[in-house]
Amino acid sequence: MPTTRRLYLVLGDQLDHRSALWEDFDPRQDAVWMAENETEATHVWCHQLRLAFFFSAMRHFRDELRAKGHPVHYHALTARRSDDRGQDVAEILRQDVHRLQPERLVVVEPGDERVRRMLQGAAVELGLALEIRPDTHFYASVDDFKDWAQGRNSLLLETWYRHLRRREGILMQGKQPEGGDWNYDADNRATFGREGPEYIKPPRQFTPDATTREVLEMVAQRFGDHPGRLDHFHLPVNREQALQALREFVDRRLELFGRFQDAMWQGEDFLYHSRLSAALNIKLLHPREVIEKVLTAYAGGDAPLNSVEGFVRQILGWREFVRGIYWTHMPEYAEMNALGAQEAVPPFFWDGETQMACVRDAMRNVLDNAYAHHIQRLMVLGLFALLYGVHPRKFHEWHMAMYADAIDWVSLPNALGMSQHGAGGIVGTKPYCATGNYIHKMSNHCDRCRYQYKQATGEQACPMTTLYYDFLDRHRDTFKDNQRMAFQLKNLQRKSADELKQIRARAHAIRQHPERY
Ligand code: FAD
Ligand code: SF4
Repeated sequence: MPTTRRLYLVLGDQLDHRSALWEDFDPRQDAVWMAENETEATHVWCHQLRLAFFFSAMRHFRDELRAKGHPVHYHALTARRSDDRGQDVAEILRQDVHRLQPERLVVVEPGDERVRRMLQGAAVELGLALEIRPDTHFYASVDDFKDWAQGRNSLLLETWYRHLRRREGILMQGKQPEGGDWNYDADNRATFGREGPEYIKPPRQFTPDATTREVLEMVAQRFGDHPGRLDHFHLPVNREQALQALREFVDRRLELFGRFQDAMWQGEDFLYHSRLSAALNIKLLHPREVIEKVLTAYAGGDAPLNSVEGFVRQILGWREFVRGIYWTHMPEYAEMNALGAQEAVPPFFWDGETQMACVRDAMRNVLDNAYAHHIQRLMVLGLFALLYGVHPRKFHEWHMAMYADAIDWVSLPNALGMSQHGAGGIVGTKPYCATGNYIHKMSNHCDRCRYQYKQATGEQACPMTTLYYDFLDRHRDTFKDNQRMAFQLKNLQRKSADELKQIRARAHAIRQHPERY
């Protein structure tokens, strides 16, 4: 006689009490299974805060399930490796299946294609049925995206976003977009001028409770040699805290979110951004409730349209779009490398030790908070990696290791696709490449840097600017027929042969010894 009828697997990014998993869960016959996984933590050298975030949120979820009377088989890592079963998840699962003898396994669609395959493989090997239930944590299902994508020559965020706006009736006046325009990007590019931002209330900080403190101690002891630090651990780790973080964002920062969406300022880690991605991605928050809250603020006159539309575009547009891209292009997507980039991430991507003020500040944010806001990701760290020639999968793997919000379905299209142009034109028609001038325009970093953002050659030359021209030079042929790159290539043509020679030599030197820059 089996002791457990069905074993319900809850993965670390599926901490949702309302998911399709629970539809028919019967605590008298079924059981839940969760495991903290050392392989995931060590196969890329994972940020300490990221590890602590996942383990703490999982333990909180476990305790909530137990409080509801659900039997939970939970595998916790301990401070000493020899005291637990720190092997990989598939191995722990195999052992537990032999012990518990369930009739079938049930899981919600994993957010990582590799994990899906691993579970399918384990189930086949164990001779057990594996039921994979749809992930209802999004506005659109993967099939919705596939239907929409069918027969289209190119998949554009804008078209998808408008499709979902119409379908969901979000920010619509009948058939017309609210306010007459589909986007207010032109209002959303303000900078902080020379004075900098006024005081911005940082995201709400949650003091670690006993469960989190236990995890922090375990991570410090067991993974203390990993990058990043733990003394800035303030993330929401359960649903109640996540809802508080959402309320706090809408009340305090949404109003100016749109206007300063693209701006940066040294030492300001969050600006007007929500910092909700980690809570959203492990499913403490549902995107619908986030958007509803933002729309309520708009209806009440508490937030302007440019901010509200800008925010809705991120969640309804980008977030749903990249998920669709992931599931329609995997597994080939992970191996794409359209520009043939081969470098490893530079050493300062692990320790932040660089003289480039923009990169140093973004890396400080990453190391302190396992976070960087979008422009730091795309136009500082991503930009540097693109111009330097980091292999796009290596950049994605680094991203997965260093950010609390990174899950394969969202990191891969953003890191490999959008930022590194690894998938060619699948996510964007041209790479996000720029000189140091872009960073100068959008921030105060260059005023505090030993490099000169305008210079491409010489000892004071800004590495971003040098590498930018080197990048265009190396990829002249790739982009020669791309109309959207015509202006940039024309600028390159203005460089004399001698200047180009110096640019190539300095770019080579940067790649030889990145630690010196
Ligand atoms: P806000 O600026 O407040 O935006 C609101 C929300 O919109 C975010 O919480 C997020 O849920 C959503 N969002 C915005 N842009 C995107 C996008 N391009 N794709 C998906 N969702 C988006 N986001 C992740 O959630 N996980 C990742 O692993 C991730 N990797 C990225 C890698 C690179 C190289 C780049 C350029 C972007 C990446 N993003 C990723 C998207 C975006 O940068 C983050 O979602 C955002 O910075 C998170 O901070 P926030 O919550 O303060 O976002
Ligand atoms: Fe960054 Fe160049 Fe500006 Fe320095 S000068 S902050 S390296 S863009």
